[in-house]
Amino acid sequence: MTGFSVREHHRFEAAGKPYLYLVPSAAIVGLDPAADMVMQILKLGGQTRDQLTSLAADIFDETEIDEALRELLTMRAIGPTDMHERPQPKILPLTPLPLTTMVLNVTNQCNLACTYCYEYGEDKIVDTTNGAQPKFMSLETAKQSVEFMLKEAGDNKMAHLTFFGGETLMNLPVLKETITYARQRAAEVGKDVDFSLTTNATLLKPDVIKYLVENRVGVTISFDGPPEVQNKFRVFHNGTGSYDIVAPKIKALLEQHKTRPVGARVTLTSGNLDVRTIYTHLTEEFGFREVGFAPVTTSPNRDYALDEAGYDHMLAQFTALAEDFKEATIAGRHHGFSNVKETIEEIHKGMSKAYPCGAGIGLMGVSTSGDVALCHRFAGSDSHKLGTVRDGIDRAAQSDFLDKHHLENKTDCASCWARPVCSGGCYHEAHTRYADTTKANLHYCDWIRAWTDVCLKVYAEIAERNPAWLAQFDRDATMAERVS
Ligand code: SF4
Ligand code: SF4
Repeated sequence: MTGFSVREHHRFEAAGKPYLYLVPSAAIVGLDPAADMVMQILKLGGQTRDQLTSLAADIFDETEIDEALRELLTMRAIGPTDMHERPQPKILPLTPLPLTTMVLNVTNQCNLACTYCYEYGEDKIVDTTNGAQPKFMSLETAKQSVEFMLKEAGDNKMAHLTFFGGETLMNLPVLKETITYARQRAAEVGKDVDFSLTTNATLLKPDVIKYLVENRVGVTISFDGPPEVQNKFRVFHNGTGSYDIVAPKIKALLEQHKTRPVGARVTLTSGNLDVRTIYTHLTEEFGFREVGFAPVTTSPNRDYALDEAGYDHMLAQFTALAEDFKEATIAGRHHGFSNVKETIEEIHKGMSKAYPCGAGIGLMGVSTSGDVALCHRFAGSDSHKLGTVRDGIDRAAQSDFLDKHHLENKTDCASCWARPVCSGGCYHEAHTRYADTTKANLHYCDWIRAWTDVCLKVYAEIAERNPAWLAQFDRDATMAERVS
């Protein structure tokens, strides 16, 4: 008689109930007690229906076991032992793919000298010192970039334009003229453009704030939080901390900019992992609506790089803040921990990613010279170039990138249950760690799996207790790609 075996899954519990995250389909299903018991028995090795009913006889009768088997087979959580799951074929996206988000590096200059910055440290990949890339993007290049963006957006009605640096506001004149030009050209071709920028806040003068408010420009501020944290790494070229300069400017922006949520992006280092304290400072002292955290991208030998203990500490902090997020969301209150919200969105949409992010697909970065690259972090790097705004996307280079970076090539990830969400991790991180963008981010797999498990639990509990909150993710079909 044919037996049954479990298929690839991750079991977790939320609100005292068992759930399965089914890896091939990225679906989440709740289990009743009989189905849960069948899964637990089958995990120990394939069993026939008669063996199962006999092993579970003390607790469940035959009808309950048969029903559980039927359910589990339908959802493909189990299958006949003699029938192996077919490996998923490597399907490359069909090009040309529409460009969703263009990140324009309007300058590679910065008035801060943050010690951990990937753009200026030994880890940098873009030649910003030897004249290979101009310090500032010219208006002509910016206009060519707008034309490139509108053309490559294809049939998409909305294009997202994000300004980045260096310190973005150091090239304010070009930024303003680009917005005017993009609005006018988009209207002419029947499209709309959404604008956003990332800044260190040092140049947020009253007239700049007024401009951002009036033009509905979305703002993300790179800001690490309390003075002792901000002043440790986010310093001016003479070594002075920036907190006292930026704090009043950030407050003024937050008081006036009500048309778009203003977000903070915090860089976490080995000496700066008190995520909950930072979150409280940024939301309660400043009023940030969204706060996202990212571990510093650096080679492991820097003293501020996160080691294993650091990742554990960060996970404990993330877990505690995710708990706060869950409680607030269930109670119908806003909570701005964006890391958990972003992962929940992917889980809710059942995303099973062949690539970790939109870099080189829906997202591209443009350097100050007009070179097009995988994303903003690679903009200006010759080895990660995908064309120019003048000549368009180099389709052969893009196809080669898509082929080499597909999840199916990452053999280390083949048996990992978190791969639908992680898909091998950030290319820039891989480049910094292993000098190879095709490598999986194996240095923090345990962290990724543990964090995905936390997010699955938060998701399942919200789905149970406040399902209406999740409806927001059903509406956003053409969201901007994330810029981190
Ligand atoms: S990088 Fe690690 S966590 Fe991510 S999919 Fe691969 S094996 Fe899993
Ligand atoms: S995740 Fe990494 S590769 Fe992807 S867009 Fe962000 S920085 Fe670039």
